[in-house]
Amino acid sequence: MMERLRGKVAIITGGAGGIGKATAKLFLHEGAKVVIVDLNKDVLEKASLELDHENLSYCVADVSKATDTKKFVEHTLEVYDKIDIFFANAGIEGTSKPIAEYPDEMFDKVIAINLKGVWLGCKHVIPKMGEGGSVMITSSVAGLKGFAGLGAYVASKHGVIGLMRVAALENAERKIRVNSIHPGPVNNDMMRRIEKEMDPENPDQVMKGFEATVPFGRYIESSEIADMALFLASDESKFITGCTHVVDGGMLTS
Ligand code: NAD
Repeated sequence: MMERLRGKVAIITGGAGGIGKATAKLFLHEGAKVVIVDLNKDVLEKASLELDHENLSYCVADVSKATDTKKFVEHTLEVYDKIDIFFANAGIEGTSKPIAEYPDEMFDKVIAINLKGVWLGCKHVIPKMGEGGSVMITSSVAGLKGFAGLGAYVASKHGVIGLMRVAALENAERKIRVNSIHPGPVNNDMMRRIEKEMDPENPDQVMKGFEATVPFGRYIESSEIADMALFLASDESKFITGCTHVVDGGMLTS
């Protein structure tokens, strides 16, 4: 079968994390050239060794900073000469506390990375993309419903839907599509941290509790989010823009 991303250049932020790395692997397999972006060199080196591909490059950058965002754009243009696909995927969960007890500094940090980071990406990456490009933003089921204790995260993940819709409208003329992806609980480090924070003694019980809220009865794998990202990155989704794409094993419908 033809490679579905042959000749395309993709940027993936949070590229050393669970979803980012799984997506980089799939995109490389489908013929793309990929730049993974993450916070520090060590995690990027490690991910690069694992992915082990000649069409992979990395850039250390903090998505919440404009200068860093410009840096990974320049890096990509220098190394691969163009940008076709932008996966704004970096994010943090923050802490788990009711709003009345939630630390303001943590609220600011979650918003800076999860919301302003996506804003900066839309601002500095999309203008450099060519006609027919595709932007995907990782929101969450927490972008479409509330979860007690996750006020900052839920607000940030709702917020990116607004950015996605506006960016979709503003870039329609250039036939650049912009969509959001909404995973349920994913079987990777982020959920491990959340489970531990919610019950340090019994993280397995927390996992079971979350699984019980998913009609398919389990967490989603990072690779299953990558499958959605591939569809949205490929020309198969060429008429789809401004939409929310849920991958949650039925969680939101129950
Ligand atoms: P992860 O923690 O494995 O990966 C997140 C990556 O983002 C990490 O490698 C981290 O270093 C990076 N990152 C954090 N802050 C950054 C910054 N300022 N600049 C650059 N990189 C930064 O978790 P993941 O599941 O792969 O998360 C990817 C996205 O998926 C996030 O936006 C997250 O909110 C979203 N999401 C995750 C789940 C889940 O259950 N894991 C569910 C729904 C949505």
